[in-house]
Amino acid sequence: MGFGLASVARLGIMSGSVVSACRSCGSDRLVEVLDLGSTPIANALLDADIPSATYPLGISFCKECALVQLGYALPAEVIFDSEYPYYSSFSDALCTHAAAHVASLLEERSLDSSSLAVEVASNDGYLLRNFVEAGVPVLGIDPSPGPARSAEEIGVPTLVDFFGLNVARRVRSEHGPADVIVANNVMAHVPDLNDLVSGFAALLADDGVLTVENPWVRDLVEHVEFDTIYHEHFCYFSCSSVETLMRRHGLHLNDVEYFPQLHGGTLRWSIGHREERTERCREFLAGELSDGLTTHQYYAEFADRVAACQRQLRTLIADLRDQGRTVAAYGAAAKGATLLNSTGLGADDIAFVVDRNVHKQGKLMPGCNLPIRPVEALLDEKPDDLLLLAWNFASEIVAQQSEFAARGGRFYVPVPVPREITPE
Ligand SMILES: [Zn+2]
Repeated sequence: MGFGLASVARLGIMSGSVVSACRSCGSDRLVEVLDLGSTPIANALLDADIPSATYPLGISFCKECALVQLGYALPAEVIFDSEYPYYSSFSDALCTHAAAHVASLLEERSLDSSSLAVEVASNDGYLLRNFVEAGVPVLGIDPSPGPARSAEEIGVPTLVDFFGLNVARRVRSEHGPADVIVANNVMAHVPDLNDLVSGFAALLADDGVLTVENPWVRDLVEHVEFDTIYHEHFCYFSCSSVETLMRRHGLHLNDVEYFPQLHGGTLRWSIGHREERTERCREFLAGELSDGLTTHQYYAEFADRVAACQRQLRTLIADLRDQGRTVAAYGAAAKGATLLNSTGLGADDIAFVVDRNVHKQGKLMPGCNLPIRPVEALLDEKPDDLLLLAWNFASEIVAQQSEFAARGGRFYVPVPVPREITPE
């Protein structure tokens, strides 16, 4: 294993900076909305029980274009190095969602062997494989070599690179314009937002469709999903801030769909060179405007609600400990790291974390240094309670853990209010 950039960051050699200009519009009219203290890079899992370097974590609101964004940012190369541990195919729900999305695109766009479908941040090919099975040529673009290799193995050609305007021009000259571009859960991860979107505009065919999925800042605020804030997530989007961003690059937000169960609430924006706005899209934009999402006031009480949630969670865990119960956690994802570290929960509170992803097992969560074990540890070590850090997959996890439940194990979710949930 080499001396990766994440390791350098852990040692504090490289650091970030306070964001003074909006990532979308460049305005300096940024106001702080939430301060979560100083936390480690959430995805930088540890190989040994050592301290992690920590960096300020919080979000600001742009009074000019309404984009919510990190108030302090680390360089992308520090965050997304080759150790980036997320492999999409480990979630059943995500694969089902992706297959349904491709099926609807195939039907609506009449795609065939002369078409081109591109996915930005294509990961292990979990989505594009569905186009391949339908005979539609694809190209994945992803900076992580590990997942890209997995994609190639299942027949999804993948360009290992960061997508932006230069890569878009190169892909267009080699493969032609894209009839479909899919960019799921990537827009928040890209530091140079305008380079990304100008790349979309350059690669997309005149009559093509770009679909972008991302959590909705409205759910972040209303469901107190503060654990979805981490250094890898530069931006937190509304339909309004996306519309402004796209318009700057000659693109139009034409449709909006909402998936309340996916990642705690996900929006899919459909975007094109031509303006063909649906009634549904108009309603989303009007709703955000009338509910104040484009004003600072909407975010004013968020910090107090987050602090209350963290207080209740610490009390809940302390009560369980006082009853002599052992608590384990499920889901060694970035949101778990933010939740545990910003709430001040550690090895005294939680015995270990389990995760299905074999690439994470044997490592430790950064900051709180909780060991990550296979899911089978729930049956071997018999903890009494399970805190679902991956609450976005709560029903999937509870359904899989019927044996844990059958011998008296209880499930808890941390947000919006820490509480016990029961199997359906
Ligand atoms: Zn702005």
